[in-house]
Amino acid sequence: FGFKGCQKIRGPQIRNLLEAKDFFLFDCDGVIWNGEKAISGAAKVVSSLIRQGKNVVFVTNNCTRPRENYVSKFYRLGFTDVMLEQIFSSSYCSALYLRDVVKVRGQVFVIGCDGLCRELQEAGIPCVEEADDPDATIYNCALAPDVKAVLVGHDDKLTFLKLAKASCYLKDPECLFLATDNDPWHPLSGGRILPGSGSLTAALEVASGRKATVIGKPSRFMFECISSQFRGVDPAQCLMVGDRLETDMLFGSNCGLDTMLTLTGVSQIEEAQEYRNSELTTNHSLVPDYVVDTIADFLPAFEE
Ligand code: PLP
Ligand code: CA
Repeated sequence: FGFKGCQKIRGPQIRNLLEAKDFFLFDCDGVIWNGEKAISGAAKVVSSLIRQGKNVVFVTNNCTRPRENYVSKFYRLGFTDVMLEQIFSSSYCSALYLRDVVKVRGQVFVIGCDGLCRELQEAGIPCVEEADDPDATIYNCALAPDVKAVLVGHDDKLTFLKLAKASCYLKDPECLFLATDNDPWHPLSGGRILPGSGSLTAALEVASGRKATVIGKPSRFMFECISSQFRGVDPAQCLMVGDRLETDMLFGSNCGLDTMLTLTGVSQIEEAQEYRNSELTTNHSLVPDYVVDTIADFLPAFEE
């Protein structure tokens, strides 16, 4: 009771685990790279897994770019064999949700970066165009008549006007309320942090009195997107590797996957142990099955 998981593994144990699994899901920031810097050895791990015939996909809550930009980022950082089909971002999955699940008819009001709108447009979903009028206020601006969803993601150009307009659209109970992800903040170098999509969603939840539907991790929807594109994925054959307990490990648990925490990102092993030792059983879904210092610890397993 209460003490399963958090197993620090090395050497032959890693080799056995890699042999046992045939589908690897990697979170990006904190696992594959930190910002613009690749985790040392990660490119070799990814190419070795692919060369062994394993399926490898990337699941990121970063909604600021369309998938093509991830392909170029992977390439720029030395991951030369990553393809578009392997990338599942919260922006891409939000576009799939709007197009295939709710089949939205009408426009989507987006709080987010340009890349999020571009991803939606590629899926044929029209976004409300925002006029760049410095005199516009919530008292005098026009509201689009056919907004059928508000989608909230990380927005580095957030304005009070955008929040106010989104709150107005959400007054209509028929207008859907979606969030790309619910991440609270992200680490920057030098001890600074970036407020995440979750902080903006929280503001709109208060203003509207509604709860957003979350698309990204830890919601299962991202795994449904993966299963529908890689037919016959067996959760028992998957390993979810991530750096954040509240998103990645919970996502893995929610989808029935084995989970691995790598210590190159946000969460520390002590936090995982606290969740493991907690009497609150809901906390146990945040506990990784396995822990490694870095995914570079996989490398010896690829040697003869
Ligand atoms: N969203 C934003 C805006 C980010 O900057 C980051 C990390 O840098 C993330 C989400 C988290 O990405 P991931 O899920 O790959 O850790
Ligand atoms: Ca991460």
